[in-house]
Amino acid sequence: MDKKDLIGQVLASKTLFELSDNLEKIYNGPLKLTTNKLYKDLYLQLKQVLFPLGGYQNSSYIIESGTVPVLYYLHSYWGFENTVRKNDIEMKLLVNSIRKEFSEVYNVTVPDSTIESLMIRINEEFPCFFPAMNGLPIKFLKLDNMNKEFAGQYTTSINTINGAIRDAIFVLPVKSAQDSIEFAILHEIGHLIHTRLTKEYHKLPESFEIILNECIPLSERSPSKNIEVFADFFAAAVMHDSEYEQPSKIKKIHDSYKSYFKEYFNLLFRHSYQQN
Ligand SMILES: [Zn+2]
Repeated sequence: MDKKDLIGQVLASKTLFELSDNLEKIYNGPLKLTTNKLYKDLYLQLKQVLFPLGGYQNSSYIIESGTVPVLYYLHSYWGFENTVRKNDIEMKLLVNSIRKEFSEVYNVTVPDSTIESLMIRINEEFPCFFPAMNGLPIKFLKLDNMNKEFAGQYTTSINTINGAIRDAIFVLPVKSAQDSIEFAILHEIGHLIHTRLTKEYHKLPESFEIILNECIPLSERSPSKNIEVFADFFAAAVMHDSEYEQPSKIKKIHDSYKSYFKEYFNLLFRHSYQQN
């Protein structure tokens, strides 16, 4: 097999496990790379394949499945290096983490209609939500491998010079039809919201302090816990008064709090939209 075929195989990977096997052929195969050229070519072609995802300015969200989410995953978690040995190490680490964190079992794949219904619900409950998201569509990328811990995963990179955000939500299969996939997706949208509004990783809008002061004892707060609370409360606000089956952690929250969260997020989106 020559180098071109190898790149072609990587770019045709339909699951994370197929991707891992193909990447392994690069650093463990008979080719014995001596220059960085193959990695460079692969990286450039990856960018080309993923370039159209930056478009779609007229949609509020997009859903992709098949090779695109797999290649986006590779692009997000591969810190491209300028030597062949460093890239070999990057690839090996990535392959190992995929094999450790994911399982091959294809359980209940999330239908597009689940995501579509959630988008309709959010738009009805929060009319300023989409306008507040800076005109960037939300990318939902469906993967076929199951993660051993999560049903969703938010990934982002922020350009430190111009503040441009490149982000996506990976939607993963669930263990059983009973799992609240809606909650998992909403929770990840919660992370997308605070990132897009503050343009920083792990930073919350200052106004959320008011909610924290009212609902969470000081001893239970920390920057990393607070962002999880933000994401959960957004999910609770959307699921409140709906037909969605609420997971137990949301059921525990009192209804009056949930209406309060709904008001909070409505005001937050309206203000952010007006400031854009
Ligand atoms: Zn989270």
